[in-house]
Amino acid sequence: MSDCIFCKIIDGEIPSTKVYEDENVLAFLDISQVTKGHTLIIPKQHMENVYELSPEAAGHVFQAAPKVASAIKEAFQPIGLNLLSNTGEAAGQSVFHFHLHLIPRYGEGDGFG
Ligand code: 5GP
Ligand code: ZN
Repeated sequence: MSDCIFCKIIDGEIPSTKVYEDENVLAFLDISQVTKGHTLIIPKQHMENVYELSPEAAGHVFQAAPKVASAIKEAFQPIGLNLLSNTGEAAGQSVFHFHLHLIPRYGEGDGFG
């Protein structure tokens, strides 16, 4: 989609710090780090939210998740990790291209939750 920020990141029109990439998904650092190492995994095909997410794309995102989680663990040494996704403005979705947040946790006072 031409006006989608995440499609522009996939196309390289907007720079990002890539954590992982394969044929079907891209993982990159969130521009606004909720905690250190906060990463998003997105399917390369534009799908707005979980309602639109195809089973194939869901599979691709979750196949990548353990690899991305391991890369985050190695790089940032968190003691925990939250995986979450927001669908709809009321749930906090601000970019309407499906994404899975990986939020590393460092204990009380890490700024999240
Ligand atoms: P949502 O609020 O839709 O669940 O999450 C969207 C996320 O995308 C936010 O955490 C926001 O910081 C991140 N984001 C928005 N624009 C950009 C951008 O241009 N680059 C990167 N790396 N992250 C972005
Ligand atoms: Zn998109």
